[in-house]
Parts: sequence; C-alpha cells; structure tokens
Amino acid sequence: MLKNKVAIVTGGTRGIGLAIVRNYLNNGAKVILCGSKQSTVDTAINILRNENSLYEVYGYYPDLCNEEEVKDMFNDIYTKYGKIDILVNNAGISATTDLVDYTIEEYDKIMDINVKAAFVCSKEVVKFMKEQGYGSIINTSSMVSIYGQPRGVGYPTSKYAINGMTKSLARELGKYNIRVNAVAPGVTNTDMVANLPEQYIEPLRKTIPLGRIGEPEEVANVFLFLGSDLASYVTGTVISVDGAAIN
Ligand code: NAD
Repeated sequence: MLKNKVAIVTGGTRGIGLAIVRNYLNNGAKVILCGSKQSTVDTAINILRNENSLYEVYGYYPDLCNEEEVKDMFNDIYTKYGKIDILVNNAGISATTDLVDYTIEEYDKIMDINVKAAFVCSKEVVKFMKEQGYGSIINTSSMVSIYGQPRGVGYPTSKYAINGMTKSLARELGKYNIRVNAVAPGVTNTDMVANLPEQYIEPLRKTIPLGRIGEPEEVANVFLFLGSDLASYVTGTVISVDGAAIN
C-alpha cells in the first residue's frame, strides 16, 4: 500500500510509533524514525533490521521543537530520496497530575512535545510537500481530545490543540494537495499506559464496549490507510480507534 513512499515517523522508537514504522515498512515504504536520543533510535533500528534485513529504515534524534535541527533533518532526507510523502507527528508524553499540583514547567513540557513539535515538523515538511505537489501529514491525537480526562489537564489540552491544528492545516494546505488528518487512539497497550497506575486503567477498561484495550498494531493500521492513496479524498478528519470507549 505504500510502495516506494518515503515516510517520517516521530516517536518511532517504541509503542504506537514503532508499530506504525513496522507497518509502513511491511507495506513497502522507506521509513525514517525519530526518537529523543541516539540509543533508543539505534535500538529500534536494530530490532527492525533483525526482523527483516531488507527494511529500508534510518533514524534521527533532533530536538523536535528546534526549527534548525528539524530543517536539517528534512533537508538530509529530501536530498537522499528526492521526496517526502508522509509525515507522522506521533511523539508525545502524557500526564496525570492534578491541576493544583501542575507546574508551569510540566505544562510547558507537554505542550512543547505534544503540540509545538507537530507545528515545527509540519511547517518544515510542508516546504518540500508544496514543491512536489502532494503529501500526507498524520497527527497522533487521543480519545481524550473528544472527552477530556479527569486529571493531568495538560494532556487533553494538547490533544484538543492537535485536532485544531489538523483541521486548520487541512483547510490551509488542501490547495497544495497536502492532506492532514489525525488518529485518536483509545487506551493502547504501550509503555505510556504501562506507566499509569492500574487503578487508573481498570475503570477505563470498563468503559470500552469491545471489552479490552487496543494494541499498537490496530492503531497503526489506520495510519497505514491515511498514508496510502486509498485515503486520497480524506483530509481534515480525526479518526477514533478506541473500541467505542465512552468516557
Ligand atoms: P510511548 O511512551 O510508548 O512512546 C512515545 C514516543 O515518543 C517514543 O518514541 C519517544 O521517544 C517519543 N518521545 C517522547 N518524548 C520525546 C521528546 N521529548 N522528543 C522526541 N521524542 C519523544 O507512547 P505511545 O503510547 O506509543 O504514544 C505515542 C502517541 O500516541 C503519543 O502522541 C500519545 O499521546 C498517543 N496516544 C497514546 C495512547 C495510549 O494509550 N498509549 C492513547 C492515545 C494517544
């Protein structure tokens, strides 16, 4: 479905991001994954190359909020491949702190990685996508961007912002044949969720009609669709992948 497409996936070293990278590779794409540091990027690439030595996968670890570092990365990739088909803005962190204990530093940190990084990466990649006349940007939102959540207000705030960025950029960039969509996963079986206390997860599980939390691969399948030509008339939408969770 992605034969010869070039895709960049931020937060591609583990969890949902790693599942997207693997899925894209299995569908014929060349993939550049980004992580926060060299060691995790190297580990992810080794895991993938051990699975299949033919995978064309490389890694970077820029500060995603630093325009110069991000610009350098996209320049490198464009010079190497002559195009960039897909950008997945997936890197993210969550929060569970109550409002009165929520520090400005914690708020700034989550807004930086969850929102500003998507803004910077989109801004820089669009320069290339406009020139080539096509592109697909896919943001990782969350079900909490639809329902909110009872603690850690910075997290749902950042994901509501991502939905706004998605819908707005779809309208701004449609005339360049650049599609912008988001995927809103429900509770998904990754480190992000493993780090949450069980008393936080169990009540969530009870609100899911499908009766279980999702697997990263199930979320990645929707990123595959949105990155592919099957989604050529899909833009400005936020697709829920949450087992119909009711919060
Ligand atoms: P994870 O913690 O397993 O992976 C997070 C990824 O983001 C890692 O690759 C990490 O390197 C990267 N990252 C974190 N901080 C970074 C930084 N400062 N700079 C660069 N990269 C950084 O998390 P996950 O569950 O796979 O989450 C991936 C995305 O899915 C996030 O945007 C998250 O908000 C979203 N999401 C997750 C769930 C869930 O239940 N797991 C639900 C809804 C949405």
